[in-house]
Amino acid sequence: MNDISKKRTGNLISIQDSLVKARFFDDVIMGETAEISVDGKFLQAEVLQILPDPKNADAGIVEMQVFEDLTGAKIGDEVVFKGTPLSVLLGPGLLTSVWDGLQNPLYKLSEQDAYLTPGMNAPALDEEAIWDFTPIVKVGDAVAGGDVIGTVPEGKVDHKILVPFSFGPCKVESIIEKSSVNITQQVAIVVDEQGNKHELKLAFRQPVKSPIPFKERAIPTKPISTGVRVIDLLAPVGYGGTVGNPGPFGAGKTVLQHSLCKYAVADIIVMAACGERAGEAVEVFKEFAELEDPTTGESLMKRMCIFGNTSSMPVAAREASVFIALTVGEYYRYQGKKVVMLADSTSRWAQALRERSGRQGDIPGPEAFPMDIPDQIKGMYQRAGEDLGTGGSLTFIGTVSPAGGNFQEPVTQATMDATGGFWGLSQDRADAKKYPAIDPLVYTTSVYDGFISWKDRQKMLTTLNEANDIDQTISTIGLKKVPVSNYIQYQKGLTIDFCVMQQDAFEKTDACTRPERLEIINQATQNLIDNTIDFQAGDLDDEQLKELIKHKFDELRQWWRDWNYSAKTEEELAKLPKAVDKFILQEEYAV
Ligand code: ADP
Ligand code: MG
Repeated sequence: MNDISKKRTGNLISIQDSLVKARFFDDVIMGETAEISVDGKFLQAEVLQILPDPKNADAGIVEMQVFEDLTGAKIGDEVVFKGTPLSVLLGPGLLTSVWDGLQNPLYKLSEQDAYLTPGMNAPALDEEAIWDFTPIVKVGDAVAGGDVIGTVPEGKVDHKILVPFSFGPCKVESIIEKSSVNITQQVAIVVDEQGNKHELKLAFRQPVKSPIPFKERAIPTKPISTGVRVIDLLAPVGYGGTVGNPGPFGAGKTVLQHSLCKYAVADIIVMAACGERAGEAVEVFKEFAELEDPTTGESLMKRMCIFGNTSSMPVAAREASVFIALTVGEYYRYQGKKVVMLADSTSRWAQALRERSGRQGDIPGPEAFPMDIPDQIKGMYQRAGEDLGTGGSLTFIGTVSPAGGNFQEPVTQATMDATGGFWGLSQDRADAKKYPAIDPLVYTTSVYDGFISWKDRQKMLTTLNEANDIDQTISTIGLKKVPVSNYIQYQKGLTIDFCVMQQDAFEKTDACTRPERLEIINQATQNLIDNTIDFQAGDLDDEQLKELIKHKFDELRQWWRDWNYSAKTEEELAKLPKAVDKFILQEEYAV
């Protein structure tokens, strides 16, 4: 047996894209990380498989995936095994940061201005930043992994400094007074039951593939105000909930994720951007640095961190980025924060798994994805949840981009099985520019108590469904055969769709609807649903009457839609239900 704390090395014997093999003579651990030295650079890799060496009984072969660009790597290059699994550095400074999929900082937002500096070789967290540490424990106190030893303010967030989760029972031997420190300085020493001393700093490394535990897991019930009406009215997501958001290319997944970043009421937003387009993450960062957090009024980036996969990174880094982002989310949940994690798109993540298993020669499952893809997806979403023990939650909303918008493919199917909520983006709605293109007839939610009553939700849905059926009838047998009462019902459904379900993500007032506004809009909607409208037929024939009805509803829709934009305050918006009442009575309603 070799000692794994000694330097253990190997040498490359084969290179195949991001998958390499190396021969080694010491012990190697499954899942440990390694560094391959290529022209003075150290490339990060992860051990995937350990095999006997058919050519040398004293040696073994490791198969590794490399997270960085292997250009210049040669057979014989040295591999150093690190003895630690893939991990993330957790500590103050996470917020406002933008990293690549391996936590290499891409950009850092300075306190004063949004000035950008590339920092590919910089440490994951800023080592120069100074934090005001206030101790909470004292010498002699018993602590263990996950316990709080002190706090530092990180913007508006009260960041708790934790004993690393891997620690067993310890006693505090020393701890610094309230003072200003950076993440490289020692803040405490703890002694474990074997008498070993451990130095604690503000930051520590945490493996990313095993979840940070819950204290007391709960079923998510409290809805998040996302600002997106179709979601908050029909398919709310709870704090700690999970949602799969599949949609074909161009249907608005990324626009929706950005809306959620901007408007979802949460303490912290963690974004894993495995973009279809390179540079999307950087654009996001530039835009978000200028925007305000809806709850604090500060720069949106102060509650955010982004893991963006740059186009120069191999696909393996995408796989890492989702795990790293989840671990950051769990870390803040453990501190009692309400965290929303967004992943766009998990299909890109699944592709990384597919490419890897293909190269490893695994027996492929459906559409060449690994057989265990459903378990891997489930495992990812299961890390979300609400923790009553800490008061924190981690909500996970992942987009899926199935080729051709085919929801039958394995990643979409596995995501639907794994998530509590489902927001399906429809190609037809996107083509018709009905945004957000979430189909109000195709969704699921696991939250019963939304922002409006269950009964009101059902009534809205019934009207939309009926309108959809009548629409089908009109297109098959023609408008003539449809009774006037049905035609009015159809127009009501169109109105709810056009004025309530559809929303402009790019217009300041309309982009975000808070519960107070939602309540007013719901009142107007319910008035429209509940009341019969007597359009005076006079001596109009059936065709002319339907023409009149359409005209009247068109006017209402235009007015209502304009009012969504122009009613800046709730007092103004409150005119909406009154206007709808007047419309029902066929009186003058425009204000
Ligand atoms: P996806 O990520 O699904 O491929 P995007 O989110 O990039 O699609 O959206 C494609 C385009 O659709 C956007 O550039 C925008 O023009 C339009 N769009 C999507 N959602 C909305 C919305 N809510 N409001 C207005 N336009 C939208
Ligand atoms: Mg997109």
